Amino acid sequence: MEKEYITYQKEKGYPTGKNIYYECTLCNTNVNSLPETFSECKCGNIMIDVPMARLMINDKEHFKIFKFVKNKK
Ligand SMILES: [Zn+2]
Repeated sequence: MEKEYITYQKEKGYPTGKNIYYECTLCNTNVNSLPETFSECKCGNIMIDVPMARLMINDKEHFKIFKFVKNKK
């Protein structure tokens, strides 16, 4: 599987999906965009509050969005 980075577009909001992850480049943790329970990266920069359906990012400079794609042969 390879990472394919997604450019954040303000009009569209943050993409979510089972194969879409948020990456914190401060602590190098990947957080699934559709977690089943409250989820956060190790340093707390990215937090996903599932009951509130809210994504909270403290430092957007250290926030990336990517999805896993199958290796092209
Ligand atoms: Zn972090």
